[in-house]
Amino acid sequence: MKQILTLVALFGAMALQAQNTFTYKTKNAEIILLSEGQRASNLNNLIGATEEIIAQTAPDKTYPGATNAFLIRSKGKNILADTGVGRELFKNLETTGVRPEQIDAIIITHLHGDHIGGLVAEGKAIFPNAKLYLSNEEFKSANENAKKILGFYSDNMELFEPGDDKPSKLFSNISAMKGYGHTPGHTLYFVDDLIIWGDLTHAMAIQMPFPKVAISYDTNPDEAVKTRLRILEYIVKNNLTAAGMHIPYPGIGTLKSDGNGGYIFTPVK
Ligand SMILES: [Zn+2]
Repeated sequence: MKQILTLVALFGAMALQAQNTFTYKTKNAEIILLSEGQRASNLNNLIGATEEIIAQTAPDKTYPGATNAFLIRSKGKNILADTGVGRELFKNLETTGVRPEQIDAIIITHLHGDHIGGLVAEGKAIFPNAKLYLSNEEFKSANENAKKILGFYSDNMELFEPGDDKPSKLFSNISAMKGYGHTPGHTLYFVDDLIIWGDLTHAMAIQMPFPKVAISYDTNPDEAVKTRLRILEYIVKNNLTAAGMHIPYPGIGTLKSDGNGGYIFTPVK
């Protein structure tokens, strides 16, 4: 009996592990999901989700959610895209064989706690050799808590201006474009033909078919909706694969139009 329980526990742990990391390959990079975990989120914070929309997309009044960061391994460099809340991130990173001191750069989409929480622990910078990249606009919007966290990286930080409606090259095969609205300087990153869209969506099950639904975490919900519509169209037009910080496992997928103003997201395998 004890043996069976041990086995069940072991499979449980493996299942959890399997839900937290995933590797996707682009032409010149490996994109590795480092998830903080999967959860069911309630509908309380959605803006503009009518009863019809909810009946169609979330009849049990929840939607699948997740919090993700990604490790990009490209041309001999280890680059983190966001750092999650910092709970499972380190365990996940360990499974990839990359140590925190081997992270060369961190590209930040925006300064919310579920994206920069993993930068610091116990009063220390977790990634001592990493250069932090952040948009000018987002830096300007930093609140006290974010300023405190960024302070640990102030010696090795680069502020930049992302491209307006075209990605502008940041370094090597990574570029950046404005995705303002969710936060004042919310930034999208491109690695080969993959876009890391940060918080372009929070509720995939609802915001894919109905991208005009916003969320109360958006600093400017109207601008966030406009940006979402513009970027989703851009992704389909340019045939990009998308990775997102709140896309459920595996956090990466492809898009097509549903012909009705919405989109169909297909997770990669
Ligand atoms: Zn977020």
